[in-house]
Amino acid sequence: METLLGKTLEELQDIALSVGLPHFAGKQLAEWLYQKRATEFSQMTNISKQGREALALKYTIGRSNPVAEAVSGDGTKKYLFAVASDKLETYVESVFIPEDDRATICVSTQAGCKMGCRFCMTGSLGFNGQLTAADILNQIFSLPDSDALTNIVYMGEGEPCDNINAVLRSIQVMTASWGCAWSPRRITVSSVGYLPGLKRLLDDCECHVAISLHNYFSRERAELMPIEKVYPIEQVINLLRQYDWSGQRRISFEYICFAGKNDTMRHAQGLRSLLNGLPCRINLIRYHASHEGEVLSVTLGSSNFKQMEWLRDYLTANGITTTIRRSRGEDILAACGMLVNSLSKS
Ligand code: SF4
Repeated sequence: METLLGKTLEELQDIALSVGLPHFAGKQLAEWLYQKRATEFSQMTNISKQGREALALKYTIGRSNPVAEAVSGDGTKKYLFAVASDKLETYVESVFIPEDDRATICVSTQAGCKMGCRFCMTGSLGFNGQLTAADILNQIFSLPDSDALTNIVYMGEGEPCDNINAVLRSIQVMTASWGCAWSPRRITVSSVGYLPGLKRLLDDCECHVAISLHNYFSRERAELMPIEKVYPIEQVINLLRQYDWSGQRRISFEYICFAGKNDTMRHAQGLRSLLNGLPCRINLIRYHASHEGEVLSVTLGSSNFKQMEWLRDYLTANGITTTIRRSRGEDILAACGMLVNSLSKS
């Protein structure tokens, strides 16, 4: 059966007509799905009983609650959702991060990932399939804290730009006036620099973009991130430079700090030249070495805090706004793929 979650207004109008409902019932369906967040057809009381029964014969709403959760001492919560699409019998993770002035969900866009980044648990588990827009939206809608959400980041399992149709569709539902009417400025999509999808993302929506950078030097970056061999970071930056970043839309770069591997003066100077003149921000991130190093058997260690402060100060002094991002949820293995892995072991 097809799911209604993720359908556009136009598609819902066609569906309404196809089951004998009037055209305007499409708008009512959109309201029930995206504004009132109905989980069952019986809740859609302004649609005729006959119409609801006809819908239920062909469609499901597409909502399902998380099947597992883990709560961190710092309030971060990690949830496991079953994937409904594609007959995939698998699960994906979402992380809810409450802070003083905001509440963010980090959603997955694929079950597993093809990109194989060496520092990432998900990368080591391989690829299990694409999520649909319904699978992505269900993580947002069925989150127990969904009403509190102020921001969405597409930074969970998977490379969003490698599943760009579903990602763009889910963003359309979140931002359209017939959908959830969120500002695109509350949504950030991350990418390792998968160029074809990144170009679509830049052209077709107004969300913020976060690029996983992690090293300036091509050979060294390729050791960490195989995507570098296909789409080098220089090409990614060249593409980004073709867009206007002087307005409200922001670009940021994620930079996990590995001791001695990417936190030296040589790397700092490389970053400075790579990003010269591009209005952007760099987020330095501490590597969760104790968890992932053990599981991934890699020889990557976390930079110490002093070195990260030095890197931040160097880049800031050279005109690149740089912050050290607070690590959240380390005690519940908040790096992507870790909950799936810990459950499969238990
Ligand atoms: Fe995939 Fe992101 Fe992990 Fe790289 S870091 S393997 S892109 S999930």
